[in-house]
Amino acid sequence: MSTATFEQIGRALREHQRFAVFSHVRPDGDALGSQLALGLSLKKLGKDVRIWNEDGMLEKYSFLPDAELLTRPPAEPEDVDVIVALDTAIQNRLGTALPAVRESKLCINIDHHPSNPGYGDLVYIDSKAPATGQILFELMTNQKLPIDPAIAENLYVAISTDTGSFQYPNTTARTFEIAAELVRAGVDVGRVSQITYENYPRRRVELLRDLLGTMRFDANDRVASFSLSLATAKKLEVLPEDNEGLIDHLRAIRGVIVAVFFEELADGKVRVSMRSKSDNVNVCAICEKFGGGGHVLAAGARVKGNLAEVEKKILEEVRNVVSRSS
Ligand code: 5GP
Ligand code: MN
Repeated sequence: MSTATFEQIGRALREHQRFAVFSHVRPDGDALGSQLALGLSLKKLGKDVRIWNEDGMLEKYSFLPDAELLTRPPAEPEDVDVIVALDTAIQNRLGTALPAVRESKLCINIDHHPSNPGYGDLVYIDSKAPATGQILFELMTNQKLPIDPAIAENLYVAISTDTGSFQYPNTTARTFEIAAELVRAGVDVGRVSQITYENYPRRRVELLRDLLGTMRFDANDRVASFSLSLATAKKLEVLPEDNEGLIDHLRAIRGVIVAVFFEELADGKVRVSMRSKSDNVNVCAICEKFGGGGHVLAAGARVKGNLAEVEKKILEEVRNVVSRSS
């Protein structure tokens, strides 16, 4: 893995003309906000920029400034000079956006996932950064790339969503300093918070009601989990993005160390989402055992099997790890 400096990345961004800015499938606020922020900044430099994501713009983040610039990748591949992969721990999580580029000269990989193996030519991974948006702010200010109010709001949402509204332990003094800079650059905190956190569709809360009905506890109430079947998802007409953050209801329970969310997928796999409240329980390591990854306190995997099989297998492993940790 090469470790690039901001200077090298800044030079590559200035020297080239045609860019494709990517992030991961099933994107979250950090992925989408980061893509738009860097894409907009490059556009302000007069660059020819494509901002593609396999899933396109999600309804819940369609309020992001210039959200319409982020699209699904085209069917016909295009040539670019530079691919920038943001917030994407492994290359195949770029999904169908990657093959939409036929030829490129350079791949820049900017991320904060410790499990990122460092694919690409210029690699900048800061696993201490709470959000890719925070790394981008540092890059942009260091390299004097443009930050206007629209770019500031995209960065703010990226950082706010990946820190759980500045609450997770990866939130540092620097994160608040950056947030202050972004507010000075034009972010309206009240408006952005309301549109980000108090604007959910009713079906999301109906989904929460159903999930709580499946809630179960293990390992002396230190492990809490709930599950979403395909049948329920269909009945409630939920979108995949509707469940982002619902796992926090489990994490918020006193005494719970690990929260697990199981979501049955259409492809014969189950998406497993995990959160830990203890540095002694590394959920990334658990998820890596099942082919996934992420961060120490927040990780995920897609595991083959039906809901009951995957629940059994995963909860057994989680129980073992939690029991060993104390
Ligand atoms: P979430 O539970 O919010 O989907 O994901 C939590 C963290 O785990 C994110 O940082 C995400 O990148 C990572 N993650 C989630 N699912 C997968 C997966 O299937 N594979 C890998 N490598 N990481 C994942
Ligand atoms: Mn992120």
